[in-house]
Amino acid sequence: MVNRRGVIAFDMDGVLVEVGDSYRETIIQTVRHFSGATITRDRIQVYKNEGGWNNDWALSQKILRDLGVEVPYETVVDQFNQLFLGENGNPGLITRERWIAQPGLLERLAARFHLAIFTGRLRYEADVTLKRFADPCPFDPIICSDHVVNPKPHPEGLRAIQAAHRGQPVWYLGDTVDDARSARAARIPFIGVVAPDHSRRAEVMRLFEQERAVAIIDDINQLERALP
Ligand SMILES: [Mg+2]
Repeated sequence: MVNRRGVIAFDMDGVLVEVGDSYRETIIQTVRHFSGATITRDRIQVYKNEGGWNNDWALSQKILRDLGVEVPYETVVDQFNQLFLGENGNPGLITRERWIAQPGLLERLAARFHLAIFTGRLRYEADVTLKRFADPCPFDPIICSDHVVNPKPHPEGLRAIQAAHRGQPVWYLGDTVDDARSARAARIPFIGVVAPDHSRRAEVMRLFEQERAVAIIDDINQLERALP
């Protein structure tokens, strides 16, 4: 039996998967569809830094509301999903995702640690990406928003991962302040991920430090240096 010395839990978007051209671009196109306005990625990041905007459907609706355009939630969800998942054989923006881990990284980590996921995605959205990039899947458990009552920054998802690997130390890797708050509430060490070209790098780093991040790295390919 392999003796693993803990659990590394990953957020997906911005940590395992580069989503600037997929999720964040879908927010921009959804907002443009209903309002005619083109918002910047930096504006999205301002909302993400506020905290509480982990759900990109709710965030799209909120941005529209702030632009003076009221759209029912289900209508926003339908438009967002059409753009993101594609329709009538047209590929959606989800196909623009890029897997961040370099070949071998997850295999080396999995030899020393259990790997898990806690994401705000629904399970079917997570599965599309994992089937494409991480098959066979090294993550267990995979906790999605349909598995918890309380989304991030609530620690429920991280507690489920702790319960699945009882008695083992857990680390959580995330790219937003809600990830950091979720980890802090679960009393597990948080490793922040923020890219060197991030439009609000200094602000995000300050937020991570306020939430007592134990390390901050540019991307997950630096993770092995931050672990014991
Ligand atoms: Mg994220």
